[in-house]
Amino acid sequence: MVGLCPAMIPALALWLGGGEPRVERFEAVETHMGSPFKIILYTSDDATARHAMKAAFARIASLDKALSDYDPESELMRLCEKSGGPPVRVSDDLFDVLSRSVAMAERSDGAFDPTIAPVVRLWRRARRDGKLPDPETLAHARSLVGYRKITLDPVAKTVRLASGVKLDLGGIAKGYASEAAVKILKANGITQTLVAGAGDIVVGDPPPGLKGWSVGIAPLDRPGTSKPEQFLVLRNRAVSTAGDAERFVEIGGVRYSHIVDPKTGLGQTGRTSVTVVALDGATADALDTAASVLGPERGIQLVRAIEGAEALFLRRSADGEVRVTTPGFQALVQPTNPP
Ligand code: ADP
Ligand code: MG
Repeated sequence: MVGLCPAMIPALALWLGGGEPRVERFEAVETHMGSPFKIILYTSDDATARHAMKAAFARIASLDKALSDYDPESELMRLCEKSGGPPVRVSDDLFDVLSRSVAMAERSDGAFDPTIAPVVRLWRRARRDGKLPDPETLAHARSLVGYRKITLDPVAKTVRLASGVKLDLGGIAKGYASEAAVKILKANGITQTLVAGAGDIVVGDPPPGLKGWSVGIAPLDRPGTSKPEQFLVLRNRAVSTAGDAERFVEIGGVRYSHIVDPKTGLGQTGRTSVTVVALDGATADALDTAASVLGPERGIQLVRAIEGAEALFLRRSADGEVRVTTPGFQALVQPTNPP
């Protein structure tokens, strides 16, 4: 899990008095998009819980099938095969994710860019081989990147990709899928729920008797093992962390993150993490990637311009951990462990 984890919440079984049914906690995990997706929900009805969980996981699985850049049969990959050709009619889901991706690319001046795939591929190979990408190959890959090479027609629901364009939705898909799963749970009558696609978390109404869901903010060092010292308390919000904590490549003593700056084609270096709270999962996920590329100063500016969004930057410097936040972030934080 990257960055955030749903804090351990005691399995509350509440009697709501007067013979009301017992509200219980249900939890399940399935692997999709190469990551563990965890669903936690509260309901008094066993059958509803099972049915809703099944429907939510099925929704995530179908998004995985549409958006994957690992599966050559996915709708995304089939679209990429047609780059340079005429516009292609795509599913509502793919069109929606692409529209949101292009919108974030525009707002972030291309710091988030869904056409980053050719460069990301070179960095995946670098991670495997332990060798930096060859500069000429990298320059060619960079020349294929640019969100303006995507033409969307919202009426016809078509997408046209300029020649050589390849898409990577890895910076938005998990947040989008967590959000889609919460919508399905709500449609099945369940509002007290949390869906965590690895570190891309979307929460609905809080658990019974609580003000919100407690989500731990992992410290920069050893995020997998050290206990969070701070918790966000959230309801009907999304939160996502981008950081170099788990996915990076170290070559010649330098750590390169799997987040790439589209302007340079280089993986981010230095120990940083960005946690973003937003109104929806796709925004939180794409925004943490964009803010991570932009760095604290421009990143905070971007987050402040987006309704309902807050962010925390953590950076390791020679003088220790540097912490920069948007003005409203601290109000969401509870300093001690949740009850
Ligand atoms: P995760 O939650 O898996 O850590 P992030 O939200 O941090 O993912 O996004 C990282 C992923 O986004 C990368 O693995 C890559 O697929 C993609 N990516 C990397 N750099 C960019 C970028 N500048 N714009 C858009 N997507 C990116
Ligand atoms: Mg992201």
